[in-house]
Amino acid sequence: MRILIFGSINIDLSGRMARLPRAGETLHGETFSTELGGKGANQAVAVARLGARAELIARVGADAFGSLAIDRLNALGVGTAALTIDPAAPTGIAMIQVDAQGANTIAVFAGANARLGHDDDLARAALALRGASVLLLQLEVPLAANLAVARLARSAGVTVVLDPAPCPDSGLPDELLQAADIVTPNEVEAEALTGIACTSTDAARRAAQQLVALGAGLAIVKLGGRGAYLSGRGFDAVVPAFSVRAIDTVAAGDCFNGGLAVALAEGLALPAALRWACACGALATTRSGAAEAMPTRAEVLALLAAASG
Ligand code: ADP
Repeated sequence: MRILIFGSINIDLSGRMARLPRAGETLHGETFSTELGGKGANQAVAVARLGARAELIARVGADAFGSLAIDRLNALGVGTAALTIDPAAPTGIAMIQVDAQGANTIAVFAGANARLGHDDDLARAALALRGASVLLLQLEVPLAANLAVARLARSAGVTVVLDPAPCPDSGLPDELLQAADIVTPNEVEAEALTGIACTSTDAARRAAQQLVALGAGLAIVKLGGRGAYLSGRGFDAVVPAFSVRAIDTVAAGDCFNGGLAVALAEGLALPAALRWACACGALATTRSGAAEAMPTRAEVLALLAAASG
């Protein structure tokens, strides 16, 4: 059982400081970290930490950050054989500044991520899709590349899970939604795609139903501490969140999608797969960081058992 992730890799350069600098100002920061990030990498690490085989198709630059990303991915158990080292662009970078109140500024430089989707990437994806059960997509790489890979997956009978994050200002082409078996926006993305603010369960239902009407097989709206709303194929229900002590919600959505892919690949039926995904998302909020904050299978099983016992 193998899960293919097609998407971005970033190195997150994060600094904490008392306050954010103004334009033209230089300030001393307090702590600094260099970590693996990018939605593709985060989702791949989530899958691998849950004990499933994760293969990542992505691009990094031929630079020190690219080597660092590959080393971290390998150490975290993600397959990188189909990854491309691209001499024509730098590795994707996110420069993050966080102040004492937790407010942040983030500048993202897509670098090599913007070049994913060349013929050789698609050829590698076609090969890797053989024998894969689920394909995970997100939108930090070109839309056209996502569409091409989604179509390859559909014709290979592989389940396509599309995380429409970040949602482009121009929205999503209908073809991409139609090529997705499952679309998984958070509240912000659901509103961008449907115009419906998901402030209540009823609003989340309407947003999810609209996404299904637009062509997605199933829609799952991620509702943070309220859980997730599932619509399509005869389902219309909210899946409640697990009660945890959340300290950092960064990458909860990526962990949710990784967990959903593993649960589906292992043959869980939809409501049970969603409970799994919600448990994964909840656990990701209990520690800080992105890729490195992903829970293990043992932690997920323990949370599921504690909640049902
Ligand atoms: P994103 O990270 O994409 O913005 P969400 O914040 O909705 O997505 O989180 C994804 C999932 O993680 C939610 O659907 C929920 O299951 C779980 N989750 C997020 N925040 C919490 C929380 N505070 N308590 C429990 N579960 C949470």
